[in-house]
Formats: sequence, structure tokens, C-alpha cells
Amino acid sequence: MCRHLAWLGAPRTLAQLLLEPEHGLLRQSWAPRRQAHGTVNADGWGVGWYGPARPEPARWRSARPLWAEASLASVAPHVASGCVLAAVRSASAGMPGDESACAPFARGRALLSHNGVVDRAVLPAAAWPRAESVCDSAVLAAHLLDAPDALGERVAAVGAADPGARLNVLLTDGGRLLATAWGDTLSVLQTADGVALASEPFDDDPAWRDVPDRTLVTATPASVELTAL
Ligand code: GLN
Repeated sequence: MCRHLAWLGAPRTLAQLLLEPEHGLLRQSWAPRRQAHGTVNADGWGVGWYGPARPEPARWRSARPLWAEASLASVAPHVASGCVLAAVRSASAGMPGDESACAPFARGRALLSHNGVVDRAVLPAAAWPRAESVCDSAVLAAHLLDAPDALGERVAAVGAADPGARLNVLLTDGGRLLATAWGDTLSVLQTADGVALASEPFDDDPAWRDVPDRTLVTATPASVELTAL
């Protein structure tokens, strides 16, 4: 399982979100605290963020471990955004190893990350031509990005078709965050200036709340709504 993170609120730098927190994605890439499947997340990483230049997000992905991305430490303090979605990857068995298999996946204004595993045979054939990779997460992303407003329904349907699937998803269009907890950990932190959703808390702030399994989260900087799936 990978680890992922989304922030929506006042602008924060990629350094503040990914690199500086004591247990942020950088640390989680080699020492996650709550990861039940896999031990390290060394099979690549990715981040997407929104800026003033155009409506579509910027995206930087790499097949290297996050800790080996030597130039990131100098760039990350200079990139700030009010909406960021990032992930570190532990590839599932048999999945491709190049950066096109790394989250976040993108379409138009949307970004999506998947923590987990799914049998690609249960996903509709119609999703394949839009998948960025043959990786299970990329095909799932193509299917879910066809209907972002139906995220909860689609995750529940895929989960019913593949009972062994783990389907923790983060999805954003830059204006709100949607997430599912389905088979793996998810936590939420509301602060004075925004909201964070993450596979596991990136620090020891007591305000972090665990999201129950089989839940859809709909979040804006001002509100967090949990819906049972
Ligand atoms: N199944 C996806 C992959 O192979 C995600 C794996 C994960 O969550 N660790 O990349």
C-alpha cells in the first residue's frame, strides 16, 4: 500500500506539506507508522498542485524513491499552493515500475490517488483507453474520473465486485477534497486555515481524527462530512 496526502486551504509550500512534517510523506516513504501492507514506499512518488497559470494542475511524478529525489529539497520551499495532492508508492506485485504508474493520476482539473489494490478484471473495459498506465490504480483512476461526483457509489460497487480490493482514494478538482476509506487507514485534520486528509497523521497533533473504514469524506476548508458507504 502506498501512502497519500491532500491539503486544501491557505497556501502551503510543498516543503511544508511533504518534507518538513516529522512523519510526512518523506518519512513515510521509508518509515510509515500505520502501513499494514508493505514496509517501505520506495517505488516512486508524485505530487499535483494548482496555481494561477492555468486551471489544470501541475504535476511532478518520478519512479525514484522520494528520499532520492535530490532536487526536490531545493524546489519544494518555492512552490506554494492552496490545494496539493501527493503520494509515495509501494508497487503491488506485477505492476509496472515507471512514473506513469505513480499517483496522482490526472484528467482535466482533477487529480486522483489510490492506496490499495484491485483486480483489474472487475473494472469496466471502457475505462482502459483513458488509463495512464496498465497499473491497477491507473485503470481504477480512469474509471473513477469518469464520474467524480459518484466516487462513493463507484468505490462501493468495485469493492462489492472484488471483495479483496482495498480502495482508499483521494480525489480533488482544486476546490474540494473527496476521499474514501475502504480497507486501509485514513485520517483527517481540520486546522484554522484548511483541511488535510492523509493515510496516516504526518505529526502528533491531537486534532487528527481517524476516518472509519467504508466511509466517504467530502471536505472543504470549512467543513468535513463523513458518509458511510
Ligand atoms: N496497486 C497500486 C500500485 O501498484 C498501489 C499500490 C499501493 O497502494 N501500495 O501502484
